[in-house]
Amino acid sequence: MLENGKKPGLGTIVLHHAYEPLKNFCSAAVPIHMTTAYQFESCDYAASLFALTQPGNIYTRLQNPTTDVFEQRMAALDGGVDALAFSSGMQAIMISLFNLLGNGDHIVSAAAIYGGTITLLQHSLAKLGIQNTFVDATDAGNIEKAIRPNTKAVFIESIANPKNDILEYEKITEIAHKHGIPVICDNTVTTPVLFRPFDYGIDIAVYSATKYINGHGNAMGGVVVDSGNFDWTRNPEKWPQFNKPDPSYHGVPFAETFGKACYIVMARTHWLRDMGGVISPFNSFLMLQGLETLHLRMPRHCENAQKVAEFLEKHPKVNYVNYPGLPSHPFHDRARKYFPNGAGGMIGFGIKGGREAGRKFIESMKLAYHVANIGDTRTLVIHPASTTHSQQTDEQLVAAGIGPDYIRLCVGIEDIDDTIADIDQAL
Ligand code: PLP
Repeated sequence: MLENGKKPGLGTIVLHHAYEPLKNFCSAAVPIHMTTAYQFESCDYAASLFALTQPGNIYTRLQNPTTDVFEQRMAALDGGVDALAFSSGMQAIMISLFNLLGNGDHIVSAAAIYGGTITLLQHSLAKLGIQNTFVDATDAGNIEKAIRPNTKAVFIESIANPKNDILEYEKITEIAHKHGIPVICDNTVTTPVLFRPFDYGIDIAVYSATKYINGHGNAMGGVVVDSGNFDWTRNPEKWPQFNKPDPSYHGVPFAETFGKACYIVMARTHWLRDMGGVISPFNSFLMLQGLETLHLRMPRHCENAQKVAEFLEKHPKVNYVNYPGLPSHPFHDRARKYFPNGAGGMIGFGIKGGREAGRKFIESMKLAYHVANIGDTRTLVIHPASTTHSQQTDEQLVAAGIGPDYIRLCVGIEDIDDTIADIDQAL
């Protein structure tokens, strides 16, 4: 809260939230706390930290002061109750699910999502006895049809990578909540600057911070943010992990003890403790650095992507353009409703001449980088069917919206005339 009683805006949160220089050797920048462990002032104090009877730093696998500022800024940006950072987006997604599901449970997921998340759900979690149903989530009714008695999570992406699907978020959350199920949304492609998941009833947001949040293509990280709105105590049989005494913490009942924060406390004290996957304090510093300009970069990514999409749509060598900011996009109306400040930086297009023409195009680009990444300041290009989504069957590729001619462009913040000239010469 600011002195005048107003809530700070996003641009203020990214620069000031959760950090006081006077309590940190007057350092204006958030210091990088490269420490593994923390001096305990007494044996009693150490014991109280391990028993979770008071908060405090134990070991960097669990907490770190640099990471703490990053987590708190992410929670504030989303309007959540708490956040937890990880070594990568995949770790964040995996823990967001492990926190809820185990052997014999079921997830309903949008079919059009990032390829790595598809393989996590379809192969890795399946090996652990966690079942999954992929649905076309653009029709919220398909989610309801797939829900079973053992369904414990609905998983979606805000704007799907790379299909650019846009969903009806409040309809999906209404359906899930009617069945007592939380909704997890991967908000990587839009970030809190373009989309605030909790405004639509979504319960948990996950991020690959590697992308726009870092923004500069130089550090891996992930984040889970909890809205604190899902009531885990309403159906205690369904959520024993939050309601029963926890044997690994001397019988602490998590929901009763930590209230609205129990989801993140559980993720930190169980899953980070037992599985690792902690973000390096140095990477947290780079994330904080990236966050400082997120509110400036995102509008520029959107503005540039809109111009590139309009250019491509008129180009004779292009079959189709997939960008929600174009009136020709099937979800353009939804884009205007949910993303009034821009439909993100990701464009897909089909090149005439299919796979071969695609190869030639990518190899002819001079400014754009040919990399398996999105959300960099620089324009990035890739052929998803042979790379990021190559593990998928033809059927899954169609569901994910990726034909052999599909090229994904993640438009950067360069001078747009130069980017368009580069695309033009490559075509
Ligand atoms: N979610 C989305 C939408 C992604 O695009 C990616 C990676 O490309 C991930 C999650 C995984 O994140 P990370 O690469 O940081 O593990």
